[in-house]
Order: sequence, then C-alpha cells, then structure tokens
Amino acid sequence: MTDNDNWRERFGAAMMGSFASPIAMLVRGEGAHVWDSEGTRYLDFLAGIAVNALGHAHPVLVDAVSTQVATLAHVSNYFATPPQLELAERLRRITGAGDRGRVFFGNSGAEAIEAAIKLARLNRGDGSRTRILSLVNSFHGRTMGSLSLTGKAAMREAFEPLLPGVEHIATTIEALEEAMDGTVAALFVEPIKGEAGVIDLPDGYLQRARELTEQHGALLILDEIQTGVGRTGTWFAFQQHGIVPDALALAKGIAGGVPIGALVTFGWASDLFKPGQHGSTFGGNPLATAAGNAVLGEIERAGLIDNAAHLGSRLRQIVAEIGSPLIAEIRGQGALVGLGLSKPVAAELAAAAFAVGLIINAPNESSIRLAPPLIVGDAELDEFRELFAKALEAVA
Ligand SMILES: *Cc1c(COP(=O)(O)O)cnc(C)c1O
Repeated sequence: MTDNDNWRERFGAAMMGSFASPIAMLVRGEGAHVWDSEGTRYLDFLAGIAVNALGHAHPVLVDAVSTQVATLAHVSNYFATPPQLELAERLRRITGAGDRGRVFFGNSGAEAIEAAIKLARLNRGDGSRTRILSLVNSFHGRTMGSLSLTGKAAMREAFEPLLPGVEHIATTIEALEEAMDGTVAALFVEPIKGEAGVIDLPDGYLQRARELTEQHGALLILDEIQTGVGRTGTWFAFQQHGIVPDALALAKGIAGGVPIGALVTFGWASDLFKPGQHGSTFGGNPLATAAGNAVLGEIERAGLIDNAAHLGSRLRQIVAEIGSPLIAEIRGQGALVGLGLSKPVAAELAAAAFAVGLIINAPNESSIRLAPPLIVGDAELDEFRELFAKALEAVA
C-alpha cells in the first residue's frame, strides 16, 4: 500500500512501539514551513528539535548534498576524504580548539556522547579515576552509555543495570564542590538543559566547573548537541562564559538534517585516544561532512549567528507583548527559548498551536520549547505572533 490516507494505522503496525503516535504526516518543507499529507502548511518553530538550522530544503544544502552524493558518498574510515578534513578543520577553528584540537565523527548526538564516555574512561590517572558526574534532569541520549548519563530516572529505569560509576548530582555549585575529587574522570554538562525544558545553569556554574575539574584532573565535557552551531548567538554557548572545555559533543544542527555527530577535544584531552580505540563505519563520511561544511559555511556567510541572537530577542519581546497570564517565565539564550507556564498545560498549548498552523514543542507539562530555524526573519516572526497568540487564547 502506498496511500498516505491511513498513515497512522501503517505507523502503528510497522514502526517500533518505542514511539508515541506521531502528530501528523509531513511530506514537504521549504524555509521555515512544512506541509502535511493533507496540504496544510505549518510554521516550524521546532526545526526538527534544533536540527534544521537553515530551515527546510535550503538551496545551499541541497546543492552540496546532491553534488557530493554524485561524486563520492561513502568510503569507510580506511580512507580520508576532502569534505571530512575540511569539516574537522572548520570545527577546530570555530570551537577555538585550534591546532591542539582533534575531531571524532559519529552519526548522532548519542554517538558523540559515547565517544566522550570512552574519552572519560581513558582519563584514568593511577586507576582510581572511575567516577563520571552528570546532572539531575540532564539529557545526553538514549544509547546505553549516553542513557547512563541522562539524568531522568524514568528514562533509565527499564534498562538498568547501566554503566557503573555514573553519578547524577544536583545542578548547584555546592553539589559540584561536594562531589568533585581526584576519583572523578569527567563532568558532563549541558550549558542549557534543552530536553528538561530549556533550563539555564546557575550563574557562575560553568566557571566553577572549569576551576574544579582543572584542579582535580577531571575532564570538563560540554554537551552542546542542542545549544551548538550558532543557536544561542555565538557559535557555541560556552563561548559566552569565558571558559574552554576539554571536550565538546556536537550533533543536531551541524549538518542541517543529515545525520552527524562530532566530539571535539581541546588541549591534553586530544592525546587520550590511540589508534584502534574507537571507530564508526559511517562516521565522518563525505556525504554527511559535505552537508556539515555547507551548513556551517552558510551560517557564517549569511550572518545567521547574529540573526539567532536577534530573532531570539524579538521572540522574547513578542511573547512578552502578547502578555498571556499562562506565560510565567522566559528562559534560554538566543534562538533556544523556553517558556515556563503558570499551569501544566504545555501539551494542550502545543496541540492548540498545531491546530492553527504552528509547530512548537512541549518537553514537559509546564514548558514550551521554541527552536526555530536560524534563517527566520520578520515575516515569520509576525506569523508566529499571530498564531501563538491564537493558541494561547484557545487554552487560556
Ligand atoms: C538530542 C540530544 C542528544 C542526543 O542526540 P541524538 O542525536 O538523539 O542521539 C544528546 N544531548 C543533548 C543535549 C541533546 O539535545
């Protein structure tokens, strides 16, 4: 059967039961808009969860991927390719890792985190460095290693026992000071907790984390899978905190929707992996890295980092101007916006938005997440204002 009318039944019958029933069947996208199988148009302010940095079907990405797939799509890591080296060098430059930096490519955020967990295990010291710290309510992925770090017990429980040595600590400087000593191999932190509802770290947290990890010989590993590549108004969120991590996990926005993940190491952390200790069949293949070069090149060329900062502050302004009593708090940075609601109606609000043609996301019952494409301009912001005001009215 090729008919799209009964897609929901086909999904239920063919797709693994690990997913909730989808919201709609989407068939096409262009810029900041997508269309469903019935021809209805939506303004997409989720962008595939902060993935479609250039929006949908951007000609620069379409050209790069079409040209590369017609030239050389995949060769295995027995061989180097030009797009792979170009992207690795570009990531060294934009992260500031520079000449001491090294890059490992995988195919997803979880794989970037898996590489980082192996990096942490290689930071053994005299053998007593066996602990890994991550934060309560953090999200680092769904594979067994990355899930071990994820700070949501409900996601972990069915799959225990998980990786030994991982501790989830409260997101306070005090909890960090208490937990940190010479037995810690690494601390994993998201600069903004996206899946938790776009929750900012306490003031000074990253600076203190940098001091303590350095003092005790632990790696500071930042998960910028969601906050990275321009979304927060700088290439990476850490660049607004005056610190440099030992490793940076990236994915989501790097290649604008083509699957990719990367771990970038800084300084001495670049010397930990030895030949043969990690690998990936697809990781860093010319198709995905050509997409990455196209996306990062276009972000730079079109000034989309400044646009992310601008559109983020306009979004905050618009939400404040709508003045709904449902909005209790505005969180996040740049074009990653969290709205704290005064009532636990996030799912209803996201559904009401969808009903009027706006895609937003409810990561939990009292938070809305906005992560629009970085190409959004005034026309889309005006459209957002109108649609979001309608949705708020429908729920209030
Ligand atoms: C999405 C995400 C991940 C996992 O990435 P996948 O590509 O889904 O494996 C990990 N960490 C953060 C912060 C994320 O937002």
